[in-house]
Amino acid sequence: MDDSQPRFLDDVTVELVKHSASDTDVLWAARVSTAGEQSLDEIGKDPERSKGLINYLMRDRHGSPFEHNSMTFLVSAPIFVFREFHRHRVGWSYNEESGRYRQLQPNFYIPGRERKLVQEGRPGKYVFVEGTEEQHKVVTEAMETSYRQSYAAYQEMLEAGVAREVARAVLPVGLFSSMYATCNARSLMHFLSLRTKSEQAKVPSFPQREIEMVAEKMEAAWAELMPLTHAAFVANGRIAP
Ligand SMILES: Cc1cc2nc3c(=O)[nH]c(=O)nc-3n(C[C@H](O)[C@H](O)[C@H](O)COP(=O)(O)OP(=O)(O)OC[C@H]3O[C@@H](n4cnc5c(N)ncnc54)[C@H](O)[C@@H]3O)c2cc1C
Repeated sequence: MDDSQPRFLDDVTVELVKHSASDTDVLWAARVSTAGEQSLDEIGKDPERSKGLINYLMRDRHGSPFEHNSMTFLVSAPIFVFREFHRHRVGWSYNEESGRYRQLQPNFYIPGRERKLVQEGRPGKYVFVEGTEEQHKVVTEAMETSYRQSYAAYQEMLEAGVAREVARAVLPVGLFSSMYATCNARSLMHFLSLRTKSEQAKVPSFPQREIEMVAEKMEAAWAELMPLTHAAFVANGRIAP
């Protein structure tokens, strides 16, 4: 692959690289209240009761039992997504690739054909609708031209011996970055409640589509690890406990 030529991508990637997370982690943490140090022995005892307990904790927002687990994701997404992501401060740890210590790769975001392009209405009330063929053409061409130009300027400065941390100033927020993001189920639920749009949400949110694409992939991975917890989250209106 030629690393000097821009590549244009219309999707994000999310890989679950490490985890220690299951529904039973919620159960033993919650049951210490009543069973003390024996709470670990009770884990597999009564699946229906376990489901009921998780649902009760979710409904009544007893949140701390959902913190005794860990998931690490490798995320690759445009910088404008990371700007939004890093606002989530509580229960998240991040490490991102450095534009000071490595040459940034020319991977750039261009919205796919299914990405709604046109905003209608007023802030807080607006909706997004399909773009026309012509609008998609304008977006694709304008972005490609701009990305090629800015990456060429970046390379020109690097070749002239300018430091990476200075040259990167010309790169746009559509450039892809990568990071490890580690969370627990409680912090993930808070993130999902704000960064996904769902008919089941009691409190609707209107996230930018691209961070929602990341959130959806995280949610799918989490739902496999903790199906009872995920189901209780959805059943209780997607409100983080
Ligand atoms: C649709 C949408 C639009 C947005 N638009 C904008 C925008 O225009 N401009 C902008 O700047 N941001 C914007 N944001 C970001 C938003 O304001 C939050 O910074 C972001 O969603 C992270 O949420 P959080 O603070 O609840 O998360 P976290 O930082 O993970 O915090 C989790 C929870 O911990 C508690 N908490 C954390 N820190 C504190 C604290 N210092 N004091 C008290 N309690 C605390 C709160 O209960 C908080 O909900 C937007 C977010 C969304 C979802």
